Amino acid sequence: MSKSLLMIPGPVEVAPEVLEAFCVAPPSHVAPNVIESFGKCLESMRHVWKADATSQPFIVSGSGTTAMEMAVTNLVDPDDPVVVVGTGYFSDRMADMLRRRGARVATVDAPIGQVPNPDDIRKSVDTRMPKVVFATHVDTSTGVRIDPKIVCEIADRVDALTVFDGVCSTAAERFEMAEWGADIFLTASQKAIGLPPGLALLVASNRALRVREAIEHAPPKSLDFEEWLPIMRAYESRAPSYFATPATNLILALEVALDGVLAYGIDATVERHEAAASALRSAWSHLEIELVPEEGLAANTLSALRYPKGHDASILKAMHNRGVVVAGGLHPDIKDAYFRVGHMGYTVERIDWLEKTVRALGQSLGRSEDVVESALEPLKELE
Ligand code: PMP
Repeated sequence: MSKSLLMIPGPVEVAPEVLEAFCVAPPSHVAPNVIESFGKCLESMRHVWKADATSQPFIVSGSGTTAMEMAVTNLVDPDDPVVVVGTGYFSDRMADMLRRRGARVATVDAPIGQVPNPDDIRKSVDTRMPKVVFATHVDTSTGVRIDPKIVCEIADRVDALTVFDGVCSTAAERFEMAEWGADIFLTASQKAIGLPPGLALLVASNRALRVREAIEHAPPKSLDFEEWLPIMRAYESRAPSYFATPATNLILALEVALDGVLAYGIDATVERHEAAASALRSAWSHLEIELVPEEGLAANTLSALRYPKGHDASILKAMHNRGVVVAGGLHPDIKDAYFRVGHMGYTVERIDWLEKTVRALGQSLGRSEDVVESALEPLKELE
């Protein structure tokens, strides 16, 4: 049986050259090619993140959750006041981590499919005077995207740091780390960067590193910036080092993936995601499917789609039978009312895969051949 097409919002399909770099016998973490690759990855991350030369990239084994925990434990001490911009399941996870850390957490929430109003965020920040403001750039549970620039401006008024969870956005949504003054932008390997799962990727501003130095309650050893800093600096100066074994195969693959993004251009890569998302939204509209996010808030990286009247999760099975895997609902309040289609990384280079997905969905919904053909029309505009 041929492999199904994986169109969930991570892990995603990876480019053949990335897979090829990954599929080698495990190299040593101090092999010359791994040291070179690691060093290049750190340098490339600054460009993809649009971070300045004083920022520090970290590449650590783990997943997006690991990167979130790194951000929380390196910047926040027990009793510190923090504000969380509430967008759904993943901002709730961040708030939960912060409470476990003992922080005093205020959340600013919004109805499902919307994002918190900037005035409400401003009010909360001005009243609470938080040490850090946390936000999820794209919340994968609802498919909404916040505007990080506005969050940075609001935090800046009270000198608060900012942390953005970019697990479902980095390299696919516009993010200007240096220009906006963001302090941490974090992601995981299995999303728009386009690798198998296994790496936590994070860039910290110089200010964030200084805040870690002043932390009283040390982070867990394996997440501590202070433990990892000498390792990252060694790799960047092309010297061998060891603290905890890196996922060497993934490092080789990461170099290829980041090279791919930078060769095409980070802005062009974001635009390619934007164009694919926009064409897909037209396709969903032809198929008479409504989005969970309100107008103007839908992310480039995934579509959160309400089951049309008379349909339910059985669509997922019907699509699978047509060779396409999509994801069910995640937000607990609307879990059974919607499903999710991922479109990020290498997938958006493969118009044939986007077409296959639209066709499988249209057919699974029982739409006529004419309707399916009209839904495919917007994809023809893509390069
Ligand atoms: N944040 C967001 C926005 C995510 O989409 C995810 C994963 N879907 C996570 C955090 C957690 O990442 P991981 O599953 O890699 O730990």
